[in-house]
This record gives sequence, C-alpha cells and structure tokens, in this order.
Amino acid sequence: MKITVASGKGGTGKTTFSVLFARAIAPALYVDADVEEPNGGIFLKPTIEKVEDFTEPVPKIIPEKCTYCGECARACPYKALVIIPPPAKKDLFFPELCHSCGVCAYVCPEKGALIEVPRKKGVVRIGRAGNLDFMEGILNIGEPTAVPLITDLKKRVKNYKGDVIIDAPPGTSCPVVQAVEDADYVILVAEPTPFGVHDLSLVVEMVEELKVPYGIVINKAQEGNTLVEEFANSRGIEILFRLPFSEDIARMYSRGELPFERFEEGLRKLHARIKEIAG
Ligand code: SF4
Ligand code: SF4
Repeated sequence: MKITVASGKGGTGKTTFSVLFARAIAPALYVDADVEEPNGGIFLKPTIEKVEDFTEPVPKIIPEKCTYCGECARACPYKALVIIPPPAKKDLFFPELCHSCGVCAYVCPEKGALIEVPRKKGVVRIGRAGNLDFMEGILNIGEPTAVPLITDLKKRVKNYKGDVIIDAPPGTSCPVVQAVEDADYVILVAEPTPFGVHDLSLVVEMVEELKVPYGIVINKAQEGNTLVEEFANSRGIEILFRLPFSEDIARMYSRGELPFERFEEGLRKLHARIKEIAG
C-alpha cells in the first residue's frame, strides 16, 4: 500500500507521525517528499547508501546555428529566455524561472540551434534505518517547483515490494496534490486549535476532490479539547489515532529523538485498520 501523510499547514506534527508510523510498521519504505525541507532523517538517522542527482532538461542555445528569431523566448510561458535580435545577437537564460517544459525546443525552427542539457535541481538520498528503507528528495534552494522531484520519487518507489509511507509537503498546493493523488490512503495530521481545524478543512476539501480514502490523526491531543472531533463528526470522518500533548515528546523532539516504542503497538493496529478500510 502507498499511504501518504499530509497536513493543512506546516508544524502540525506530520513528520513526527510519519516517522513513528513508518518505524512501527517496518519493514516498509519511508519517503520524505517534503523536498523543500525534508527532516524525517533527523529522527530516523538513516545510513545513506546512495546519493543520486535529480536533473531536468533546460535549453542551451548554440550561437553558430541560432538566427536569433526570438520564437523560443516568445513561446516560453515562464519568461525564462530573452533573445536580443541582430545585430546584438545575445541570449539570456534565467534557470530559476525555467520549468523544463520543453516548449522552446519544440518551437525552434532551426535544427540544432537549441539543444536541451541536464541541469541539477536537487538530490535523492537512499539508505536504511534499521529494518526501514529510507528515501528523501532534497530540492535545491530557489527552484521554482517541487512537483518534478516528487514525481521522480514516486516513480522510484512504484515497484517497491511492501508498504510505502510518503511524508508529503504541508498545505494544499500542487506538490501536495502530486504526493497525494494516487495514494491508497491518506492520513491527515491536525492540531486541535482553531487554526489547525481551519487548515484541516482545506486539506479535507483537497482529498475529497481527489477521491482518495482518508482519516485524521490528532497531534497534541488534550483531554477536554474536542475541536478536531467536532469537525470530524460533522463531516463523518474517522479519527484514526491521537498523539498526546506531552512535554516529554517535545523535549525528545528538540533533541532529534522520538519515543518510537511507546506508540508501536497502537500504530500497528492503526496500520491493520487502514488496510481494512483501503483494502
Ligand atoms: S527559436 Fe531557435 S533559432 Fe530562434 S532564437 Fe530561439 S534558438 Fe535561436
Ligand atoms: S524549457 Fe520551458 S520554461 Fe524553460 S526556457 Fe524553455 S520554454 Fe521556458
């Protein structure tokens, strides 16, 4: 099964829950797809066995063959290319704006005037943390979109024999949709605060639109605080698990540690429950 863990906003405990869950159900594969700020590795402390570049094709103009007609620059939807016509005959390329869409190469009328060359946009780190397989994508700072790297991670894990836990980016933007859209099940992590419930409502709308089965995990659950339960009951959504509000956990977290054993049994039961629902 591919289980994606998402949240309506950052800082809700999505990674805390993802790594606790992945470790509890191991052997499995944990994938940190929060590629702009992956931090699951801080808690899992994997041994990294392989680091592979993530590249995408970007245009390169060959001055000897280019007529500086400007077709490529006019067609670029992201204004990443500027062509200065003769007599100046110059080209400017802004790699941080380029989405590697390939339109410029497609429209160029001169054979060999615009070629595509790979440009490194990040890395994928692969390793192991005990009996848990580990993978994380790290996007270079300043890259325009996280979607291609998340797509790459998903391709890499497609044939994994076992359960895959994908730690998605926070929010409801395109990278999150990419991480969530073909999951077998989505776990939404939320905090019991008015802001937490508001952001939860946004991510619930997203998963309902994508028609993926889902349930809610409450992080920092406190006795007497029923904000998330009230929201879930009003929509008929299942509360799957509660991680308690605890100073001990906060202290461990600040040291890059988590109480893995404490929740193991409950999280294994949750795993069985999810299999039952999604199966
Ligand atoms: S479309 Fe081709 S020939 Fe025209 S300016 Fe661009 S690279 Fe040069
Ligand atoms: S690949 Fe797409 S975004 Fe990049 S320069 Fe060409 S047209 Fe523009």
